[in-house]
Amino acid sequence: MIEILQKHLLFIKNHNLSVHKYYCNSKILDKYIWRSYFLIDITIFIILILHIFIDMQHFIYGPFLSRRLGLSLGIDLLAQNKYKVCTFDCIYCEIGRTNPKGYSSVNKRISIAKFHKTIKEKLTRILKIEQNLDSITIGYNGEPTLISDLAEIIDLIKHVRDCLGIKTPISIFTNSSTILDDQICNKLAKTDKIIAKLDVATQRDFILINNPHFSVPHISKIIAGLKNYKDKYPTNKLIIQTMLIDGTINNLNDENLKNLSKAYDLICPDLVQLYSVARPPPSPSIKKVKINKIVQIKNKINNFSQKEKKINIKIFQ
Ligand code: SF4
Repeated sequence: MIEILQKHLLFIKNHNLSVHKYYCNSKILDKYIWRSYFLIDITIFIILILHIFIDMQHFIYGPFLSRRLGLSLGIDLLAQNKYKVCTFDCIYCEIGRTNPKGYSSVNKRISIAKFHKTIKEKLTRILKIEQNLDSITIGYNGEPTLISDLAEIIDLIKHVRDCLGIKTPISIFTNSSTILDDQICNKLAKTDKIIAKLDVATQRDFILINNPHFSVPHISKIIAGLKNYKDKYPTNKLIIQTMLIDGTINNLNDENLKNLSKAYDLICPDLVQLYSVARPPPSPSIKKVKINKIVQIKNKINNFSQKEKKINIKIFQ
């Protein structure tokens, strides 16, 4: 974004200098010329602002190195929105706290049908060059399952990928709040891998940490929904992501860890990812959990587990 602004400001500066030089040299500076000079600049400025706005609708960004997914190409289906659109307002959210205008019900649906062509063109252009990606990842500026045409978008990505003979898996991030909706589950199952959030397993911690919209079901129902998803789509890879945070509000208490262990046992995901904040969170009261503490937490969760064959838990720094 800063690069785009710098590019445009440089353009305005160069444009002003060249016009100014021309008028000074020809010694025809009168008020009419200055007026038209001013009008031209205003018009150019408006065009550039529009251009910046269109540029902001990136939808696709990267590739970038993701600590959990490797070399990843990001697909942000909510990029056209001014605010992050999410059913949660997590206290640690790295994009910042959820604006009331973007704080959404689980029943809200947003269509991005008019952007399909743009997404297809951009994706084709990028994938022609970037063929060694580890993941094409849907997520980022909020909760992607709120997109009504998510199934069409996944088909579109698959079509582009398959036409170019690329084998990169498609992953999707979800905060799990819509997992009770069968239609959404069908859409999620079209991807190769879903990475579903489960930071807490007690309602008290859920409210304190994830601040769910009032329409979001009770955490016990979300856990049951994740289990049903895995039962219904056993071959579709389900990863549970658990963000650990320390500080005045934290999810490191034994009650939460015990319940998380129970939830993992019930859901039987292919993998659990334990990690902590990587970038500065919106509030200084939220502390990063150090790696040695995450190792202790992993051991605790394993000890709480009633299963003989323990769930695969991986730690990410
Ligand atoms: S679910 Fe994700 S995007 Fe939404 S507030 Fe939480 S961390 Fe941010």
